[in-house]
Amino acid sequence: MSHRILRTPADLTAEDLRTLYDTFDSPIAALDCGKKCAPHNSSGKPFCCDICHAVPAAYTSEWDFLSGTTDLWHRYRGDECASAPDPEPASPLVDENLPSGMIPLACLGPSLCQRPNRLLSCRAFPFFPYISSDSRILGLAVEWEFKSVCWVISNLSQVTDEYRATFLQTFDQLLALFDEVFDNYTYHSERLRAHYVSKRKRFPLLHRNGGAYLVNPASERMRRVVPSQLPKYGFYAD
Ligand code: SF4
Repeated sequence: MSHRILRTPADLTAEDLRTLYDTFDSPIAALDCGKKCAPHNSSGKPFCCDICHAVPAAYTSEWDFLSGTTDLWHRYRGDECASAPDPEPASPLVDENLPSGMIPLACLGPSLCQRPNRLLSCRAFPFFPYISSDSRILGLAVEWEFKSVCWVISNLSQVTDEYRATFLQTFDQLLALFDEVFDNYTYHSERLRAHYVSKRKRFPLLHRNGGAYLVNPASERMRRVVPSQLPKYGFYAD
């Protein structure tokens, strides 16, 4: 990114975004994780690509860029799940905590995915940058609301080093550039800790030092573990 003054992610140009997308492009795992979770979804789609389960969020700059270059995305209307041939009974999950400056979008569906045109939020899923209470960006934490359906969350040992490195490279840059992004993920990390405190469980963390940890959400004390020993959830608990 050139030395311009960028105040919010809305200031990201098409060139900035292409560079971010090209950097953050490696698959999460050596295998196609969508083939692992889709059989558990009645729609047959990977859960994170199914609008009945997850509504992707984009920075307004991403929408400005992608709406001019591809027909992959449209603004989320709110009725996409209900109009599906076999709608899920639950209403689509729109994150009530969608940060300011982000908008919900919907895509053409996984069979028509254009990988070079995926949003940053698609590339990051099921992770977000975890920020400790003393403001350190420690690594990758999981979107806990998806732990019962997302195969990756139950198989963190399969996440490649390259994915972890490019995730951190991307978010270190965004968090350093934009205070509002840092504040949003600080708040999201607080929500994660509060959730696991309420469950009296430790949460998994893929640390930036390359290790895997279980973190006590109250004390934030970390215990290094063998990745294959991290907890499994939902469909994958057995
Ligand atoms: S990230 Fe999780 S929900 Fe998305 S395709 Fe992979 S296993 Fe399925």
